[in-house]
Amino acid sequence: MTIPDTIAIDGPAASGKTTLACNLARELNFICLDTGIMYRAVTCVVLKKKVDPLDEQGVTRLAQEMQIEIAAPTLADGRAFDFLVNGEDITGELRKPEVEAYVSQVSAYPGVRQAMTRQQRRIGQRGKIIMVGRDIGTVVMPDADLKIYLVASLEERTRRRYEERIQHGEEVSLDEVRRGLERRDQIDSTRQAAPLKPADDAVVIDSDGLSIEEVLSAARKLIR
Ligand code: C5P
Repeated sequence: MTIPDTIAIDGPAASGKTTLACNLARELNFICLDTGIMYRAVTCVVLKKKVDPLDEQGVTRLAQEMQIEIAAPTLADGRAFDFLVNGEDITGELRKPEVEAYVSQVSAYPGVRQAMTRQQRRIGQRGKIIMVGRDIGTVVMPDADLKIYLVASLEERTRRRYEERIQHGEEVSLDEVRRGLERRDQIDSTRQAAPLKPADDAVVIDSDGLSIEEVLSAARKLIR
């Protein structure tokens, strides 16, 4: 019995992709690369450098020049890794609401995607990897051994993301969270470059009403 060497997990925001990928990676002793973090990092640097997120050229240039490093965690604040851009640790800033508000705009630019896809493919070549995103099965690793497309209803995703943000001490309403997710999904799935959609050979898992363990168990069946 052989297990897949490269696994792509795609799907809309807050569908549980990262949780599934981290759990699987731990079991299989694989690397887990959450590519959403890379687009968040570009957005974070754009905002820090006060580049207008609508300035496609300026944003693309920044993305092309960015030196990304992912290292073992140096702080015990719940992080799974340290994310450094040009040597600066920006891990704590990647999930900020302002990053979330602009990330889909920034990641719709073809030049930004090209720069990130190149880095993702380089990492993917090592194998024993689970890569998470929106276009992994369709564009980044079209030859992945297993492709999972994880979905959940907007209601379920809103509830999960709302609870997460409240736990992080944010003041946010359910409605705000729902609108944010809807907006991102809309931009992500209608953009020209690498839109969010399942690859033809992806297996769809609907996680509505399933526990984390049940989703994991469905994925395990596909692997073994
Ligand atoms: O997965 P996460 O919510 O962290 O992704 C943040 C954003 O990054 C997505 O809404 C999408 O705009 C972008 N993204 C992308 N392609 C990927 C991963 C994320 O466009 N492979």
